[in-house]
Amino acid sequence: MENIDYTSHIKPTWCPGCGNFGIFTALKQTMAELKLPRENVVLVCDVGCAGNSADFYNTYVFHALHGRALPPAAGIKLANHDLTVIAIVGDGGLFGEATTHLMNLIRGNHNITVIHHNNYRYSLTTGQYAPTTPKGTKTPSTPEGVIEEAIRPIEFVLSCRPGFVARSSALKPAHLKDIIKKAIVFKGFSFVDVLQPCVTFNKDQTIAWYQNIVEEFNGPLSLEKAKELAVREDKLPIGLFYADKRPAYHVEVSTLQQGPLVKQKIDKIDISKLLEFYK
Ligand code: SF4
Repeated sequence: MENIDYTSHIKPTWCPGCGNFGIFTALKQTMAELKLPRENVVLVCDVGCAGNSADFYNTYVFHALHGRALPPAAGIKLANHDLTVIAIVGDGGLFGEATTHLMNLIRGNHNITVIHHNNYRYSLTTGQYAPTTPKGTKTPSTPEGVIEEAIRPIEFVLSCRPGFVARSSALKPAHLKDIIKKAIVFKGFSFVDVLQPCVTFNKDQTIAWYQNIVEEFNGPLSLEKAKELAVREDKLPIGLFYADKRPAYHVEVSTLQQGPLVKQKIDKIDISKLLEFYK
């Protein structure tokens, strides 16, 4: 089987040096190494700099509304659980708008992968503070400093009883590929927090800052230890925090045990009683 190239004919428009390039390359290479046929992959992209990658991948892509990538991702997986479904979301869309979706998909252990492009800013709209921006940070929308406490993504996800939680860095290609590969093959909800520089609008979390603060560890860890590492601020640990093998959502739905919904014959199903009920 020839190597699958997931690169579309549209050239990325990201700023030179943007962390999105590292994530884009790592995901394409991982999908190729896993030999995922293009027709069996669906990427669901949020709105934002990360979400713009919808144009740059050559596979099936759904470009969702801002903060609304996760519901269609879960819906696609429920309609055809033979597909590999990956959501690509930034920190603004995910933790500003989509926390309820995130929380409930984690609880249900829907078998999708969420790749969180975390650059601590709303970058597409020129660098306003995001829910992950540390308290006190001055941005165009917080000239006197951010008032709110920042959300710590790993800590948040761990509190929702997740399947798989990991963190990596756009500046560590081999590590990132390894983590994304483990997340995609995991049979349940997988969350990958990817630290990435926004070289244009974030002058705090710079490449040098990441190089100094990121520290690799070997996981998975116990839930208690994972929670301990998730709140560290002197270092940002990267690795597999936690993995819990429990049945994915679609496995527990009786009608889906007969196979993916899209492959089931539904034309002979009698819905007359249902229609009568709602008349
Ligand atoms: Fe990347 Fe920031 Fe440029 Fe967006 S604004 S493409 S996140 S460097």
